[in-house]
Amino acid sequence: MLEASAVGHSLRDLVHGQDNVAVHKTSVQAIDLDRRTVELEGMAPLTYDFLVLGLGAEVTFFGTDGAKEHALPMYTLPDAVRLKEHLLGRWEAADKNPSLVDDGALNVVVVGGGPTGVESAGAIAELYRGDLAKDYPALPQDEARVVLVESGAEIFSMFEQNLRAYAKEALEKRTVEVLTGERVASVSPTRVTLSSGREIATHTLVWGAGLQGNRLVQSLGLELERGNRIAVGPDLTVSGHPEVYAVGDVAAIADSRIDGALPQLGSVALQSGEHAGTSSSGSTTSSSGRRARERGVRARPCRAVPRIRSPLPSAPA
Ligand SMILES: Cc1cc2nc3c(=O)[nH]c(=O)nc-3n(C[C@H](O)[C@H](O)[C@H](O)COP(=O)(O)OP(=O)(O)OC[C@H]3O[C@@H](n4cnc5c(N)ncnc54)[C@H](O)[C@@H]3O)c2cc1C
Repeated sequence: MLEASAVGHSLRDLVHGQDNVAVHKTSVQAIDLDRRTVELEGMAPLTYDFLVLGLGAEVTFFGTDGAKEHALPMYTLPDAVRLKEHLLGRWEAADKNPSLVDDGALNVVVVGGGPTGVESAGAIAELYRGDLAKDYPALPQDEARVVLVESGAEIFSMFEQNLRAYAKEALEKRTVEVLTGERVASVSPTRVTLSSGREIATHTLVWGAGLQGNRLVQSLGLELERGNRIAVGPDLTVSGHPEVYAVGDVAAIADSRIDGALPQLGSVALQSGEHAGTSSSGSTTSSSGRRARERGVRARPCRAVPRIRSPLPSAPA
């Protein structure tokens, strides 16, 4: 199991040697686009010439009964640490009181057959059948189930057919039970009820079923697309505000090459962030950029290309 420091990196450390960057670890409370001010928790507001909105996405439970209280989302580093501690806590509790195994204490239900759910279910199964099987030899390993629930007909619907089939097979090989065409209807601390009425005894529901843009964007008076994402054109600026860029998961980046917005992926976030950085710094530092802005000419279009990394070892050709 990895320590948090192995997957996270200090922002301050990243910008060592960049004199034009200041890092403040605080929360943005409000943004006034007309006054060009950003209000921050515990410090004075900032004003800006350019604003880049890279607020990311947050979990949505689609109103599923009990999910907000009892589900464990799997979208951030603190989420991952919380899930790890919760799982280890269940094994320790069952070690002291083995009757908890019959109550489903070791079972895990993962909801969502996209990359987050597939990756989480596979990793938990590997942890169960590897380290935890060795650490808790007295507990009945075969009775600890890992179940992946997906409402669609197949997992990995965003990938090609051969990858969908490969992912299902790879999960089943790792002892994950894949349930498709089923939706989680409600959650309690020890039970998950599916839309079919079927009940699974479990103390752990991992939520990988849905994201929406950060809710702060709702206060900005901007045009929002499906999933709370800010609509931006190919140059990544926001309608009516050429000085405001939206990048990454919070942006719905229209691209004529595909039908709809670019997907919420790391590759799109990196490329759009870089584009906003070079466009805005070009506009402030070069006189031609400044003149172009004064004439109302828009920045150049972003050419982000989604590169989807398959979360499982490479599929056979
Ligand atoms: C489990 C998982 C696996 C993934 N695997 C892949 C993968 O294999 N390949 C891939 O390409 N993509 C993957 N992704 C998607 C990828 O992580 C995202 O697309 C990417 O991180 C989006 O970057 P971002 O900068 O837009 O948002 P984020 O990375 O979410 O960053 C937004 C930041 O804004 C901060 N923030 C939010 N609100 C405020 C506020 N009010 N004030 C101050 N700060 C705030 C947040 O704390 C966060 O640090 C994965 C995502 C998940 C959840």
